[in-house]
Amino acid sequence: MAPRKLAAGNWKMNGDLAALAEIDALVAAHPAPGCEVLICPPAVLLHPMKARVDGGAIALGGQDCHAKASGAHTGDIAAAQLKGVGASYVILGHSERRADHGETDAVVAAKAAAAHAAGLTAIICVGETEAQRDREETLTVIASQLDGSIPEGATAANTVIAYEPVWAIGTGRTPTNDQIAEVHALMRERLAGKVGDASQVRLLYGGSVKPDNAAQIFALPHVDGALVGGASLKAADFGRIIAAL
Ligand code: PGA
Repeated sequence: MAPRKLAAGNWKMNGDLAALAEIDALVAAHPAPGCEVLICPPAVLLHPMKARVDGGAIALGGQDCHAKASGAHTGDIAAAQLKGVGASYVILGHSERRADHGETDAVVAAKAAAAHAAGLTAIICVGETEAQRDREETLTVIASQLDGSIPEGATAANTVIAYEPVWAIGTGRTPTNDQIAEVHALMRERLAGKVGDASQVRLLYGGSVKPDNAAQIFALPHVDGALVGGASLKAADFGRIIAAL
């Protein structure tokens, strides 16, 4: 059986208390969505957002966590702290974290292990740059990011993989259907032996997913949902993506 599909919204560094109205709208419009729905807001919004979604169908997640459980790490957030305010997921190794904070595969793997230890599901992101695609290195880059970023102990229950080509994020450009299908097939194959039952790991596509292209992307083999940035900020847009899954 195919795994349950997941529509994950990544708010990035956007939104404030007033933006919680979008969550109210989403909850009202989708009381019983046909897929799992997740919002990953800035960490400061997790607690107030939890109050708005409590008891409902929307799960919450962080956008990063530290590899350590606690301690002298000014500005960082531990996985257990995310869990404590209502998160059940955390995005790790997003290309913006890899680029802005120099996160390597090893750092991502350590963070994912910390997330697992705290009881969070890790959404581990991988993706090639445009230069790497032009040099036809996409499949080797993805394979090596997967090999390096998935920790021991990963399972289909505690790990989700998101394929996000760096050049497609926030640009309005997306790979062709064939290009997405090729990478997702490689990921499914590569996960075998690393995560228990690889057929049950959710493989998300991310990068300029919009209401207009969602259905076409979700129809591709081995695409089990999406990680959505810009189009997750407005309930109306994200709602159309949820409905397409
Ligand atoms: P985008 O971002 O949907 O705005 O392209 C996706 C992401 O970075 O997760």
